[in-house]
Amino acid sequence: MALTRFIHQETVLGFAKDLRDYPTTMPGGVERDTNKRVLRARCFSKKLLHALHPKPVHAVAVSNAQRQIGPLHQGRVDRLIVRRAIEVKMPDHDLDCLIIGGGPAGLTAAVYLARYHRRVAVVDSGVSRAGLIPESHNYPGFPDGISGNQLLLSLRAQAAHYGVRVVSGTVTALQRRKPGFCATFDGEELPARFVLLATGIVDKHPSMEGLDAAVADGLVRYCPVCDAYEATDKKIAVFGSGSDAASKAKFLRGYSADVTWLRPSGDDASADDIESLAEASIDIIDAVQELGRSGAGIQAAAAGRVHHFDLVYPALGCDVRSGMATQLGAEANDVGCLKVDEYQRTTVEGLYAAGDVVSDLHQIAVATGHAAIAATHIHKSLPAGLRAAPDYAVTAG
Ligand SMILES: Cc1cc2nc3c(=O)[nH]c(=O)nc-3n(C[C@H](O)[C@H](O)[C@H](O)COP(=O)(O)OP(=O)(O)OC[C@H]3O[C@@H](n4cnc5c(N)ncnc54)[C@H](O)[C@@H]3O)c2cc1C
Repeated sequence: MALTRFIHQETVLGFAKDLRDYPTTMPGGVERDTNKRVLRARCFSKKLLHALHPKPVHAVAVSNAQRQIGPLHQGRVDRLIVRRAIEVKMPDHDLDCLIIGGGPAGLTAAVYLARYHRRVAVVDSGVSRAGLIPESHNYPGFPDGISGNQLLLSLRAQAAHYGVRVVSGTVTALQRRKPGFCATFDGEELPARFVLLATGIVDKHPSMEGLDAAVADGLVRYCPVCDAYEATDKKIAVFGSGSDAASKAKFLRGYSADVTWLRPSGDDASADDIESLAEASIDIIDAVQELGRSGAGIQAAAAGRVHHFDLVYPALGCDVRSGMATQLGAEANDVGCLKVDEYQRTTVEGLYAAGDVVSDLHQIAVATGHAAIAATHIHKSLPAGLRAAPDYAVTAG
């Protein structure tokens, strides 16, 4: 896959006096528009612009494209006029910012950076936690709720509106390159001045048949902050070990008088935890072997008995997708969430992080807030982008 997919946030239009003998598609993503007599260069290079006109123009190289535009300027460019070249000042790197992860955090940052006229690309492996949300009722602005997938689609559409490319794939490695970074993606190296890591977390799931459908139906839930309100006065179970599970059960007790802690075999809960749950009138069932679905609810088998609940919150922890950053030396807490400062900067210079990969409060509103802060700081840290006057025109000499 060619890097040129990433680097044409702004389109250069080359007008030709006579385009009839140009093919409709040319190397380097250059296309001829038959009706409008326009050459659209999806990416462009200094070499091309110099070929179009010997004087400097207010546009700057996109170096990776150079190898692809050769045939366009061989012998015929003197017939072209550059009508409009858009200033883009980033001589050292192709991208101002590479965003790894296209969930709410990554897509929000992309919208902000694109609206700052920065060159930005998002690489996304397509497993956003938000995609698991059947319907969110706590994300501001949607009084009737919105599904996670609908929100992701809207964010993608908003990013696309500003020319952001969201490319499907997985960034497999990130290396320092002074200044900036080089990401490995799809066998290519992708250089960027700044990187925003928005890779999120992966919940640890209980082993249970039909788990995906149970999550979609709201019977298995991961986030009481998100949706405990919708579980008000229901028969709620929490499945997991230790203090995290105990505190989740206590939190949920504020929503229902009927909360049960399902402890797997081998749980090492402290006496304090057990006592505090007893004080809050939370039942405890020990040695729970398995969870399953029972009609419109959930069942748990323990000591030869089957217990029924309206829904269950697993409290099994998560894997934080912060490995790429910690390999570069970024500091993380004991769970793996990246440490950041008030501008979302990790402890590695130029590397920012936003969303679940950072926060303990795993919320869309938090993720998008992080993203706005990070994107704005990245923008201010880049060289000023001095915009050329519109309709800058040069006639080929
Ligand atoms: C069932 C459920 C219900 C929830 N309900 C709510 C709710 O009602 N309200 C609320 O505020 N929050 C809710 N949440 C939490 C919310 O989904 C997260 O807080 C939010 O998705 C975090 O956004 P993010 O962008 O940080 O991470 P994510 O949305 O997880 O996105 C991370 C993205 O990074 C990509 N990625 C990871 N590694 C790579 C890589 N190496 N290369 C390329 N891409 C990569 C992943 O594919 C993914 O698309 C819920 C979560 C769950 C599981």
